[in-house]
This record gives sequence, structure tokens and C-alpha cells, in this order.
Amino acid sequence: MSRVVRVLALLSVAAGVLWAWAGARARQAQPNIVLVSIDSLRADHVGAYGYPRDTSPTIDGLARDGVLFEQAFSSAPWTIPAHMSLLTGLPPELHRVESRASKLSPDAVTLAEVLRDAGYTTAGIVSGPTVMGRYGFDQGFTSYDESMVEKRPARVANAVTSPGLVRLVDAFLTRWHDGGRAQPFFLFLHMWDVHYDYAPPDTYVRRFDPDYTGGLDARDLEHNTRLNARMDARDLQHLVALYDGEIRYTDDHLAQVVARLRTLGVLDDTILVVTADHGDEFFEHGQKGHAKTLYDEVLHVPLVVRYPRRIAAGQRVAEQVRATDVAPTILGLAGVAATPGFGAPGLAREHRSLDLTPYVAGAPPRPGLPALPAFSTTRWLGGRQNALRTAGAKLIRYQPPLPHRAGIEVFDLGADPGEQTNLHGSMRDQFLATLTPRLEDWASDASRQTTHALALAPAPEQDARLRALGYVE
Ligand SMILES: [Zn+2]
Repeated sequence: MSRVVRVLALLSVAAGVLWAWAGARARQAQPNIVLVSIDSLRADHVGAYGYPRDTSPTIDGLARDGVLFEQAFSSAPWTIPAHMSLLTGLPPELHRVESRASKLSPDAVTLAEVLRDAGYTTAGIVSGPTVMGRYGFDQGFTSYDESMVEKRPARVANAVTSPGLVRLVDAFLTRWHDGGRAQPFFLFLHMWDVHYDYAPPDTYVRRFDPDYTGGLDARDLEHNTRLNARMDARDLQHLVALYDGEIRYTDDHLAQVVARLRTLGVLDDTILVVTADHGDEFFEHGQKGHAKTLYDEVLHVPLVVRYPRRIAAGQRVAEQVRATDVAPTILGLAGVAATPGFGAPGLAREHRSLDLTPYVAGAPPRPGLPALPAFSTTRWLGGRQNALRTAGAKLIRYQPPLPHRAGIEVFDLGADPGEQTNLHGSMRDQFLATLTPRLEDWASDASRQTTHALALAPAPEQDARLRALGYVE
């Protein structure tokens, strides 16, 4: 080999090493991502959303450090379809994972897959039976830990999982650190304890209602007939206080996760998102729990993002956003380009999920958010419900109509934020004529797109757990 060739070869090797080093540097420069979903946490019971009880000091602190979306809405009022929308950016009409009998198709592109392909180590740690890998939630995750999911159907509603979750997060972060922090991580953390039954540990039972002397038995919420729309008002107050106790208990454990990130020195290099899959209702419209209606108490969720490298502290976004916007926004904040096929690029622009990064990150002036329509859907008592929510009004359509209920409901959210007065058929309904064609446009646009569900074989043990929670009709 001539001297010139040897020098060239050496140079080439050196260039390769440099290239690899630069690549590794670039990868390390990518932020970590922690997406926390607190199951069943309605926005209006969070301090940062104006709740008078001190239920959520940790979430409130994250909101002060980052951005809080005041009007964030889920695309479904129960765990399976709502989480699938969160993790894919797809509405239920397209991911079609809406029951225990369906699983996400591998053809769909998940947030975890996009991040894994971009060099992330991806980990899911979940604690409820409705977020298990069998429904496709594990698609794209390097590891997916379901060990905290309660196996006994009779115990699943009362399972206490937060301390175990914190230990698993701790172990994951320790492994990542001991492994030399070779890759950025994406951690999806699903926290189950706020989900009914509302049975927090003792100190949290009395925390928000120390004077209660009644004998309320809140166990087995979904099947407990004493918990009904005509129950004693004082007992109902206590039921809500128990729910709030669960929120504080979970928030106190979220604090430990945040503290661990801070101790490792990575908190500010981490995009930390806290949200929920849906809320719960306390007979505002005659029901308890969730999955049965499309009113705001089950669709309005908290959404807080802390990432001081790009998001200035203390922002509050008043415009409406959707759960389907979370995944593209995480990618936008991380600077990761979406894999072709991610989201639903075939949908009309006004129906697609939106990367909110340009509206909240970087230096002002920033553009104002467009008016985003929020669509949501559920099935209950054999019927389909569809809703369109705008900033000022909501249309809910029931197909077929439920017994003793109107088939169409229209609410003026400005005058009636509690959705108590159905304007349909009245002279005051100035909304139906504009909302109906928009809901129909949405249905017809969605029906033209590729859907992403596979049929799932029956699993009696899993079905028993879902039945215990009231999810199987
Ligand atoms: Zn849920």
C-alpha cells in the first residue's frame, strides 16, 4: 500500500470515528420524554385548573414551570380508546381499538415507534388492565412493564399501584444511567390509582373530609347500587372527597418521579407531559364513573407540558386542543420528524391532529392557535354517541337514541358550561345548523381513511377484570 493510500485510509477511518462521535453527540442532545397519564383525572379537580382543594401540588408546580392547556379534550371517555388516541395521534374512528376484542394493527405508526426509530430507548410502565400490550399499546416499546397490573378481578378496582410504579420508574432510570445514558429515553407512565374505586390509603381517606361521620361504602363503584343519582348529598360529598384523596395520593407519587429526574440532573432536559385519558362523573348527568356519556366532566382533561429548554414558564393556553395533538406535539418539541404514515395525513387539514409546538415554544411573538374542533365518541347500551365540541358550543348525537333521552343535544357552552340545558328544538338553538354539517363532514372524512384494528381472540381472565370494572356490557 502506498504511503498516500495509507494516509487516505487513516483519514477516512478518523473521519468515520468523528462522524460517529458527532452522531452520538447529536443523539444525546435529544431531550428525554416522559408522558404521564393519570387515569380518570378530570381537569376541574386539579389545583392549577382552579380547584379549591390542594389535590395536585406537583402538577401545579409543573404547570407553573411550563405550559398549561386550559381546554384539552379527550377523544373518548374511557381508557382503551382514549389512550390509543394519546399514543398514536389517531381518533378512535381510525385506530378502532374501542373494545376488549380489538388490537391496534401493526400498520399503524405509534409515537413509540417514531421515537424508537429516531434512536430513543422506549419504555412503558402501566398499571391498569385496559392499557395492556394485548391491545397493541406495547407497539414500539423496547420494554413494556405490566407487572403492576392487578391480576385478580375482584381486586383490580381497589389495587394500589403508585408506590410500585415509582419503584419501577426508579429501576428504569437507574438502568439508563448505569448504561451510560447512551440513548435518550421515552417513558410512558400510566398511573391507575385515581381510577375508581376511590379507596386511597387511610391518611388520604380523611384528608379532604375529616368531619365525615357517615357510613358510605364506596367499594365496587360500578355495581354498587347505593351509589346512585338520588344518594344522600353528604355521602356524595364524601365520595368526591375520596376521589380527591386518590388524586393527592397519586400526585404525591408523581412528585417522587419528578424528584428522581431532578436528582439525575435530567429534569430540564426532559419533555415532561402530564395528562389524563378521561375524567369521571358524579351524577352531573345522572351517571357515575365514565365511558357512558360525552359531557365535559369525562372529556375535559388536564394537559401540562414542562420543558424549560423550549417552553417559557407560566404559560396558559386558553384555546381548545385535543388528546390527539399530544403525540405530534411531543415529536415537534423533541425535533423528531414523524415517520411517514404517522397520524392520519389523509384527513382534511381541519380534522388532523396538530403539532402545537409553534404556538407554545420559542420566543414570542408566536402565532395564535387555530380554532380546533374536538370530536369524541363512545358506545353505551348498544348505541353510538358522537360529539363535536367547539369553543362555544357542543353537539352530541345518539344513534339510536337512548331510552328517555333526546337523540340530539346542543349546548351553549358560554351560557351553560355545565351542559344542563339542551337547546335542540328550542328558539335559542343557533348552533345546530352549523355544527351538524361539521360532524357529518368529520364522519365522512374518517370513513374514507384507512383503519387500524385487528380482531383479538377472547381472553376470559382479562375479560373478567374488565367486567369487574364495568367495561363489558
Ligand atoms: Zn381510564
